[in-house]
Amino acid sequence: MHFFQTENILFQKMAFFNKKTSKISFFYKKTYQEKLEELKNFANLTEQDIFELKNLAQLSFGTADKMVENVISTIQIPLGIATNFLINKKNYLVPMATEEPSVIAAASNGAKLARFSGGFTATSTQPIMIGQIQIINIKNIKEIKSKILQNKNFLLKLANKQDIFLQKLGGGAINLKLKTLKTNRCNMLIVNLFVNVKDAMGANIINTMLEKIAPEIEKITNHKILLKIISNLSIYRMAKAKAVWKKEILGQDTIENILDAYEFAKIDIFRTVTHNKGIMNGIDAVALATGNDFRAIEAGAHGYACYKKKYAPLTHYYKNKNQDLVGKIYLPIPVGTIGGITNIHPSAKLSLKILGAKSACELSQIMASVGLAQNFAALKALVTDGIQKGHMTLHKRKL
Ligand code: NAD
Repeated sequence: MHFFQTENILFQKMAFFNKKTSKISFFYKKTYQEKLEELKNFANLTEQDIFELKNLAQLSFGTADKMVENVISTIQIPLGIATNFLINKKNYLVPMATEEPSVIAAASNGAKLARFSGGFTATSTQPIMIGQIQIINIKNIKEIKSKILQNKNFLLKLANKQDIFLQKLGGGAINLKLKTLKTNRCNMLIVNLFVNVKDAMGANIINTMLEKIAPEIEKITNHKILLKIISNLSIYRMAKAKAVWKKEILGQDTIENILDAYEFAKIDIFRTVTHNKGIMNGIDAVALATGNDFRAIEAGAHGYACYKKKYAPLTHYYKNKNQDLVGKIYLPIPVGTIGGITNIHPSAKLSLKILGAKSACELSQIMASVGLAQNFAALKALVTDGIQKGHMTLHKRKL
């Protein structure tokens, strides 16, 4: 039986048992009203949600004015829906905010082709973020280290007092480690605070903790403290996704060509950066749609791409024993389903509702899967039609 037929039978079975699927045939051909109807049914949206979507979920001046300084207006970016995502056997319609044509179509296509082998499997670590305190002009490193470590429990308790609610949820500061740095100006000691931030991105939580414990460290060590700030390289908050694209679907030539394209990205940094940019096309668009800090995710992703070794692709491709293409992605994704503007911005609130992610970990797994689908689809386009065909068809609509 052909793979397309197998997939269709699965689709019919799901419809029979009334299970919601994100594989909506010809979603892009539906009218705006029909698209909203599909979304409403899939995500149990209310009439009020639909009204807000139709009215472009506008930020009021009052809300915008509370978010940043010197507000004069707002800028709008299209919010679209990527279809076909099946992640850990759960169907997702993924909201993506982007101004770049063909990004949403490409992600949907990568996800559609991955469904033939069960979609994406994704995992993530605990949401542990790192905060840093910089102590400068250290003379006796050993003595200062020992003084801080003697007060470790006191400092962790003090940090946790800043967010009792987070602690009640099972999160909070869990460890503190020291690192010495010999710099051109002086010897420094860095206090790294590890915090489980649960469903928040965590920057405010951590910065508040750091600013509270820093004066105590100053007293304990009798040394000057300079910076107190979160690190955006969150190597303990990782997300992983994997998908298999069948050779019967892609064709052996396309698989070989994708693997050659991947080798190019592994060796030549001018290509690697563009390869990773393609991944971030997807991840940033979900971050923006859900009101997350996409600058933090970008900084962390590129930092991780050169952590330990030279700057490298964030995705990995190889053939399995059936000669299918296997794609994997592994990167830090510090995101929240709570905090920041996730619960303030009307579009972000609606995007999270459509997505239905129950936790920040789940959101990070979705974003890793989108990044992988995006990268796969870009590689596939590059080794077949070239990128401009799809881009320009969509671009022409604008012109
Ligand atoms: P936040 O300040 O809104 O804090 C989240 C709060 O929600 C916490 O106090 C916590 O007690 C509470 N909470 C309720 N339910 C929770 C749950 N299930 N899990 C976790 N917390 C829960 O948000 P934040 O995530 O600390 O900060 C994110 C914001 O900080 C973003 O807007 C980001 O742009 C900004 N920021 C980023 C940087 C950076 O370097 N990346 C620096 C400063 C600020």
